[in-house]
Amino acid sequence: MSFSDILASIDKNAITTRCNNTTIDDVKVVLKKERVEIADLPVLLSLAAEECLEELAQKSLTLTRRHFGNVVSLFTPFYISNYCENRCVYCSFASQRSIIRKQLTFDQIHREATVISDSGIRHILVLTGESPKKTDFSYIHESLTIIRNYFPAVAIEMYPLAEKEYGALINSALIDSLTIYQETYNKDRYESLHQRGPKANFAYRLDTPDRACRSQIRSITIGALLGLDDFRHEAMSVALHAQYIQKMYPSVELSLSFPRLCPQEGDFTPEHIVSDQQLVQLVTAFRLLFPSCGITMSTRESQSFRTGIMPLGVTKISAGVSTAVGGHSTDPSTTQFEIADHRSVKEMQTDLLSQGFQPVMHDWSQRMSVI
Ligand code: SF4
Repeated sequence: MSFSDILASIDKNAITTRCNNTTIDDVKVVLKKERVEIADLPVLLSLAAEECLEELAQKSLTLTRRHFGNVVSLFTPFYISNYCENRCVYCSFASQRSIIRKQLTFDQIHREATVISDSGIRHILVLTGESPKKTDFSYIHESLTIIRNYFPAVAIEMYPLAEKEYGALINSALIDSLTIYQETYNKDRYESLHQRGPKANFAYRLDTPDRACRSQIRSITIGALLGLDDFRHEAMSVALHAQYIQKMYPSVELSLSFPRLCPQEGDFTPEHIVSDQQLVQLVTAFRLLFPSCGITMSTRESQSFRTGIMPLGVTKISAGVSTAVGGHSTDPSTTQFEIADHRSVKEMQTDLLSQGFQPVMHDWSQRMSVI
């Protein structure tokens, strides 16, 4: 069964009903379970579970320490282009916006990589907008060939590629990880938010993790952009997608991320605001469901929120972040979104150490050529 078949079978009304009818006793029963199941997720995300958040957090903390110790992996995003043919209403890079467009030359990529590398970061997330005309596969391949010389762990968050393109990047050891958000798993909502451009193809994006996994990607991060639809429905879709990937591709390391919509260029206001408390509920519920999955917390969240949630399930965190193209080394372009945590890599390391964590600069190393 493909994941799109599984997604189509989700009964959203049943999730809502289960959430609404859950009692505190139901939550306590789930919290006592040795192994939490996906069917338990609506219970953990219910209003009643908000009353049990302390117990949920304690259980999540224990599981996180059991599976990850005190280790937290640091990474930073590396934007190489903000040209985009899509019109995502929630993004500053959308094609209809009059922003400063920029695409790094290969010399500029060397410079940006040098500055980021000098900060101590060894794990990089390379991003572009979706413009196969400007940032075609050969540009991506060449950019990653340069970047790979500076960083032993390279993840990409780019427009969905064809299976053979993922294969080419993975077989050349240019990337080891992929981050791909479905944005929203609600197909109708997705189609209304992405009416034009290549991103309008819901099914192609949904199948992206499969294409990368079939190409033997080492690790993959999935999630939904919180704010676009009911977070409980999105959570169930993410959980089923995660379970599907684990069953289909057991050798692939799976991570999860829960980005919340931030202020950006334009006038989009999320209809489905997720509160801080709900985000904590979400992260801790997923830790119970997926004890050994990495969980990333982005700089969309404030320093105080990230500090508070760190012990409760988070295993990867960005630092020294700029969401502008060439933001570390050149006159930066427009940012993709406003970040809320501006700590440098050094500051993040210091703060993590003071919280009792062991910050590591990468979670994976490939042999690097000497440049
Ligand atoms: S979210 Fe991605 S695809 Fe959509 S406008 Fe922004 S950069 Fe382009």
